[in-house]
Amino acid sequence: MPVSRPIFRKLLLNAVLPVAIALIVVGLDFTRHGILEAALAAGITALGFAYIFSSSLQRRIGRLRDFAEGGTDAHRIETEKAAEDELGALARSLDGMAARLGGLVERAKVDGAQRAAILATMVEGVLAVDSKLRITFSNRSFAEAVGAQHPIRDGTPLPEVVRGPSLSELLTEALREGEPQERRIGLVLAGEEHVFVAQAAPLNSPAGPGAIAVLYDITPLERLERVRRDFVANVSHELRTPLTAIRGYAETLLEGGLEDAENSRRFVEIIKAHAIRLGNITSDLLTLSELESGAASSPPERVSVQAAVDSSLRTVSTAARLAGVRLVRGEMEEADVLGSRTHLEQVLVNLLDNAVKFNRPDGEVRIETHRAPDSNVTIAVSDTGVGIPSELQSRIFERFYRVDKARSREAGGTGLGLSIVKHIVERMNGTVRVESDLGRGSKFTVTLPRCA
Ligand code: ADP
Repeated sequence: MPVSRPIFRKLLLNAVLPVAIALIVVGLDFTRHGILEAALAAGITALGFAYIFSSSLQRRIGRLRDFAEGGTDAHRIETEKAAEDELGALARSLDGMAARLGGLVERAKVDGAQRAAILATMVEGVLAVDSKLRITFSNRSFAEAVGAQHPIRDGTPLPEVVRGPSLSELLTEALREGEPQERRIGLVLAGEEHVFVAQAAPLNSPAGPGAIAVLYDITPLERLERVRRDFVANVSHELRTPLTAIRGYAETLLEGGLEDAENSRRFVEIIKAHAIRLGNITSDLLTLSELESGAASSPPERVSVQAAVDSSLRTVSTAARLAGVRLVRGEMEEADVLGSRTHLEQVLVNLLDNAVKFNRPDGEVRIETHRAPDSNVTIAVSDTGVGIPSELQSRIFERFYRVDKARSREAGGTGLGLSIVKHIVERMNGTVRVESDLGRGSKFTVTLPRCA
């Protein structure tokens, strides 16, 4: 490699020139001292100069090396950068390169932090493993999905964290095939079966081959789907029963029953009762679907609880008289609530109607309202009826759930009344609860926020 000109100049100035000067100086004296002494003196002088020059070079190169290795701050090479020679140019390029590298490192840090934040906050569980299925990364959602303590230590074998072979098999397949894989996997968490959609893909990192998996918990979706399927099945079943009866009695009438004056009237009455039931079911279903879709029929209004109670008592009075049940209007503390008067009356009529239906002859149904101290109002409907077994009390608010199916149908029930009650009350930001003694009676309490 050719020696660069500035360094060559320095060499000339710092080493060759001093030797020449020394030779000239010594040469002038050459006659007095012998040639050997002169050469020795010139050599020593040149060595001295060369030593000084080389240590200065060494120091400068050392500073640049330190800077390149990251041991020196940028300001320590400021003087080097100002130098006109090749080392000065090297210092300037090193400084420029360090600035560019610094920028790259900063950007990599920001990118890394962003990626870590995204992975940490993802609802999907993310997991990376090496080729031996040892965990190399996992986020919080993954730890929660498999019921493990977060953070999961790097290097933990996957089977130690996830019981059951399905996830390990999926990752092994992705590793073996070298292609993305997907499957549904079931994991039991706190005694509850959860269903996940898991996607796995091979991941080749500098550390070696591995695989990454993303887990998405579809348990709530599955549950909703099951509820929807059950609902459709229930509706079909509920509609089929009265339709079959109507069809059967109509056919009997047509096949000669019309001539049977005594029975024909009874058959027509049965048809009418089933038609009414069909009407009740469809109107209850419509109400439920309206409530579920959140379609507010009208803006919330101030409703007097007492007025709604009185109107509802009038609605059920005939049914109560026919069933031989006394309706008692108990203590009434006046209060207003915010909502729809029609909806509030629907709640009260459903509760009073049930209290009459599931009562005994000569029984009693009592309704009373109280202003609770916590700015709520409670409306309690109690009866002296059959009561509800304690283990079934939480289920009676489910759609189509009935304790005594035959009795409910006989009384014209749809099994949807209490679900409608719950929906309406919750839409009014309230709650409904039941207390019941089997064979002695039940008490339903609705609590609603009171208007100021
Ligand atoms: P239904 O149309 O059958 O009355 P609901 O949804 O109103 O449907 O009630 C669900 C079930 O809850 C009823 O079938 C009945 O078994 C039970 N139930 C509701 N209210 C009472 C009550 N006051 N006493 C006893 N059982 C009741």
